[in-house]
Amino acid sequence: SVKWGLIGASTIARQFMINAIRAQEGGEIAAVMSSNPERATAYAGENGIPLAVSSLDALLNSDIDAVYISTTNELHLEQALAAIEAGKHVLCEKPLALTSADARKMVSAARAAGIVLGTNHHLRNAGAHRAMRDAIATGRIGKPIAARVFHAVYLPETLQGWRITKPEAGGGVVLDITVHDADTLRFVLSDDPVEVSAFTQSAGMAGGGLEDGAMCIWRFKSGLIAQSHEGFTTKFAGTGFEVHGSEGSLIASDVMTQKPDGSVLLRTAKGEEQLSFDRENLYVRSVRQFHAAILGKGEPAATGEDGVWSLASAEAALLSASSGKAIKIDPKL
Ligand code: NDP
Repeated sequence: SVKWGLIGASTIARQFMINAIRAQEGGEIAAVMSSNPERATAYAGENGIPLAVSSLDALLNSDIDAVYISTTNELHLEQALAAIEAGKHVLCEKPLALTSADARKMVSAARAAGIVLGTNHHLRNAGAHRAMRDAIATGRIGKPIAARVFHAVYLPETLQGWRITKPEAGGGVVLDITVHDADTLRFVLSDDPVEVSAFTQSAGMAGGGLEDGAMCIWRFKSGLIAQSHEGFTTKFAGTGFEVHGSEGSLIASDVMTQKPDGSVLLRTAKGEEQLSFDRENLYVRSVRQFHAAILGKGEPAATGEDGVWSLASAEAALLSASSGKAIKIDPKL
């Protein structure tokens, strides 16, 4: 069995990750930590978790094998380093930290300690994205030339908190959504971004100087160029992911989401074909692969290194927006 401790009494754990852990054979939630003792107890009660604690030490000293970190972003670094030092495997939410330099510290600490470190980039686990990656890898669109990612959504009212008010907590749409787009592009294309140029905006939702919309243009190692649009303020935009190649195009709709939804169309000289793909819960697959990695079978769906890459990409996008220049991406791994 794998006994988990939750660091953070969060929405994402309640909505997706508690169930995803319990869906695994031997997956158990042994404890939850919140900075507030009353919230810890209430959260444990509502979610049937046997132990509620309000300090990291108490959590790390309890009988657990792994932690899932889903606190606000400024806390991930310190909590992950402490968990690694205590010998617990770490599945951490994105962004891994506030800077790629800090994320690299997590990766080196995990490596030195022989600990499994994963980044919870859920979209890699989506059947739609895996079908696109396979189609590209098997040459079905020829040479990939350009990609377009549509990931501007409306931030639900229940989540209109630190993301739009607290720069010090790592708020803003770039650390929230651009990291996912950078990671999903890397995964689907099997290619790495080398440079980004970005504009950001504050369209009326985010305060504190934070951005609630971003458009980025990316150049990849292969020469492919991509564009991505992330936002919190557009209620009716819909999401999508397209890759256009010399022999065909992949056009996916409604796939930048937490659910295994959407469709993937392949268009070539032969006509149009809807690709079929598996509809497994993204988070269940993520935890399954993490459990396997703990047993020495393969790697987490997104590794710590992947988390450094996505954060270095988002960081470069923010620097581009503030400086008005195109910025090179270097994860320094
Ligand atoms: P929440 O705002 O729900 O939770 C973050 C922290 O806020 C909690 O750890 C908790 O602190 C505190 N908190 C929560 N509810 C309350 C409340 N009612 N009153 C006071 N404090 C509260 O964050 P999310 O679940 O939206 O995000 C958490 C992390 O997960 C972030 O890093 C985010 O980027 C990531 N995320 C990833 C997703 C993915 O699909 N990969 C999707 C959504 C989020 P405490 O623990 O101390 O009680």
